[in-house]
This record gives sequence, structure tokens and C-alpha cells, in this order.
Amino acid sequence: MSNVENDPDELRCGGVITAAPEPELLRPREVPLGGPRAMLVGRTLPNRDRRMVGAWCFADFYGPADISGQAGMQVPPHPHTGLQTVSWLFDGQVLHRDSLGNSQLVEPGQLNLMTAGRGISHSEESPADHSAILHGVQLWVALPAQERGVDPHFEHHVDLPVITTPEGSVMVLIGSLLGATSPAKAYTPLVGAELTINSGATMRIPVEQDFEHAVLALSDLAVDGREVRTGDMLYVGQGGGDVTIEAAGPGRAMLLGGVPFEEEIVMWWNFVGRTHDEVARARSEWEHGRGTPDEPGRFGVVHGDAAALAAPEMPHVALRARGRVRRT
Ligand code: MN
Repeated sequence: MSNVENDPDELRCGGVITAAPEPELLRPREVPLGGPRAMLVGRTLPNRDRRMVGAWCFADFYGPADISGQAGMQVPPHPHTGLQTVSWLFDGQVLHRDSLGNSQLVEPGQLNLMTAGRGISHSEESPADHSAILHGVQLWVALPAQERGVDPHFEHHVDLPVITTPEGSVMVLIGSLLGATSPAKAYTPLVGAELTINSGATMRIPVEQDFEHAVLALSDLAVDGREVRTGDMLYVGQGGGDVTIEAAGPGRAMLLGGVPFEEEIVMWWNFVGRTHDEVARARSEWEHGRGTPDEPGRFGVVHGDAAALAAPEMPHVALRARGRVRRT
């Protein structure tokens, strides 16, 4: 896929947008989630040409997978900095445990939102008595530079707003949509929502003009008239005024958007920083704390049985800060 216009300017004439950006289809890469019997996830962000949508900098989906009689998701304790993790399920359960002492099961329709800030560690696993099917998304939100060192904190939301329309329903995870606002804490103007579209229906959602948006398809859909297959993401750009989603059968999608994130970031392993040295320091502090539980440092300790994940080796070349789109 070639992106011919990396950063199209919005042209306004008398308040009417005359040039809409060309939508971009972002295909997922298959990535093992880690562990000896690694689950495969499909990663649409970061993508080769487009790394971010608003502050959304990472988008994985997994399943639906039949994990009956299996361990399911087993992600041992690992660190994060400079980002928020969004855990969202369509089916099943995941147990989150973190170094602040939180232990929280997340189920469909509930949001686990972890703000890593200057540093936190957590594990995510299917509980022993999990249901057969596991299906969900794991998303990251980059924190703006001046707030990337905030104190880590964890939120669990069970009463997210749901808007029911004749075409289906919209659940707002973060930000505002259709006049409803999520209580989840965001650090930049942002929106994230699950869309459920009735069989044969076309849902039209008015969106913020100064946000860019993308739709992650969890079923085969048409987005703004373009075919988007299950697991693909369609970046629809900025300034369209609305997003239209059409489902031949029962439809499901995630709508992600936000004000374009203009800072360049260094994203490596589970860290988001601004420089190579900042990320290298986080890695060495994690490795030190992992080996010396008496001095866990800023990432703390996750109480549980699982051994913490070792960080990979740093690359031999300096990590470079990158922008939200690839410059050609
Ligand atoms: Mn994590």
C-alpha cells in the first residue's frame, strides 16, 4: 500500500471542506503475544505508513479463539511507560494485576484503563475458570510529553454510556460520541467506541471535524463505501464530518479517533518515550528491578506466581523518534 498524500491539509471554503483525505486500508500483521503457547494477535497499529490515529499508537485484536481446556492468555508481568493501555473484550474474561496492587477481572462491556505514566508493571491472564471463547482488543494511547511522567493509575469502568439507534448501538469507551461522554481519563482529545451494527443496517456517526478517525473491523463491513474485511483497519482521515458503516450481517467495529498527535515518539517494546536514552533507562531499570525484588524501583512488583518478562536486548543502532505518518 502506498500513501500518496502523507499529511493532507484540510481546505476550507466558506466552512465547507473541499478536500477530504484519501482513506488508507491498514492490514494487520500477525504477532505472537509471548509465552510458550503464544496467542497470535493481529496488529494494525503501528502500521508501515501510518503509526498513529490521534494518540492511539497501538491496536491489537485477538480471537475469537476457543481456549476451552487451555490456559488462554498468559502475559507475565511486564512494564510500561508513557502510555495508557485499553483492554476491551467482546467475549471472555481477562484478569489484570498490577504493581499498584490492583487485581481486576475485565469482561465484555467493561473497560480496563491503565495509565502507565512514569512506570507501572502488570500481568494479563485468562482466569483459571475462563469461558470457552476469548475475543478482544488491546489498544495503547500515547501520553503527551508534559504528562508522560504522571503517577501511574488504574481505572475500571462498568457504566459506560451506550447509545441505541435503529441501526444498532454505540458504546463509548473514552471521549465523547453522539452526545455521550465516557468517564475514562484521557490526556489528549480522543475518542474510542465499540459499534454494533444490525444486520443489513447502515450506521452514520457524526464525528469531530478536527479529529482524524479509523475504523477497526471486527466483522466484514463497508466503511464510507469501502470494503473492510475482518481484522483490517480503514483510516478515514480528518474532516469528513461523519463516518458511515454498513454491515451485510451482524456487524462490529471499533471507532478510534483523536486530534492528530504531532509529537514524535520513540516506541520500543512496552515503552513510549521521546528519546533513545529515556527508553534505554526504562529498560535497564526494569531489568534491575526484575532481578532484585527488594529494590523493585519505579516499576514495582506484580504479586502473583508468574515470573516477570525479561526485556529484549536493545538494538545496536539508536532508536529514533518517529511521527504519526511515514515521510517519504
Ligand atoms: Mn501490557
